[in-house]
Amino acid sequence: MIPRLFSSIASTSRNSAPLISTYLRELCSRSKNPNSIYLTRIFDEILFPCLKNAKHYVNGTDGTVHSVRVPFHEHKEMDISDYFSALGYILTHSTATASFTQLIRLLSCYAEWCRVSSFVLGINTPTVVQMLFDEPPSFENTLTRYGHANTLKFSLASSVSAGKGEGREDVRESRVSSLQSVWPHSLVYPTPVQRAHASAGIGYGRSSIEPSAELFGTPWGHCGESVSFPSMHQSITSGRPLGTLALSVKAMNCVIPGTDITPVYAMPFLISITDVIDMLKVAGALRPMCLNCLYLRNNAGGCINDHAIKYAMSGDMNHVG
Ligand SMILES: [Zn+2]
Repeated sequence: MIPRLFSSIASTSRNSAPLISTYLRELCSRSKNPNSIYLTRIFDEILFPCLKNAKHYVNGTDGTVHSVRVPFHEHKEMDISDYFSALGYILTHSTATASFTQLIRLLSCYAEWCRVSSFVLGINTPTVVQMLFDEPPSFENTLTRYGHANTLKFSLASSVSAGKGEGREDVRESRVSSLQSVWPHSLVYPTPVQRAHASAGIGYGRSSIEPSAELFGTPWGHCGESVSFPSMHQSITSGRPLGTLALSVKAMNCVIPGTDITPVYAMPFLISITDVIDMLKVAGALRPMCLNCLYLRNNAGGCINDHAIKYAMSGDMNHVG
């Protein structure tokens, strides 16, 4: 079951929170879903209070953000600590069976939900949504099945809501803790992205790293990969073939110049993988992994194929595979 477009249940208004809340509650509590106990916790402790209080995180009792600890595929104790990660978690687990093409449509749906939700919450929209997945055996076989009734896994996550600051660092720290609890290699500071900025002559000096260093490069914990990578850490370290695909939330939600097409609304009507990929290319929505995520992948010896690059370089859509 692929969830509906958010726009079809709620007009984009700050008063839409109760409608969205009702819809998400129903999605999380379906009795046939084997994950419903975790989805319900995510709804009760993150999604519902966030929508009620118009924030992207929930205040914890100790002054930091409140996290919900749930199993996420291969990570048995993943901390979910913000609204958008929670959305990715429930979308990942709401589908019993889906083809690879449907997975990309689900990623598009996630991009739409991020935009509508951020408007309702009155905060900045995460810039990128990302999906990590077991590589389908071949592109000819787009019927390959994913979802909780099947063996092939996928994980959806987004970057952390940027700007306005409040809660953002705590959310990143929570993600970094989850990552480090299962990651076989230590992280480097400054991050590879920050180093690249520094060596390009911008950013901080040699002495100390300012808290505002993210202005000059992405910190650890920001990318969606800091959730999806730990969720499939055993697959990554064992070198199992995985794929990643990241999309710009803005590009997916904006009208393509010169047309009347908004990708998130068009995607549900595209059937073939070729049409889906063409849409992502024309929309300019494909986002390659950043240097931080490449560093994580390479240090763990992972075999993760970046489909944003693969699709962007595929001139002839008949030779995508
Ligand atoms: Zn990244």
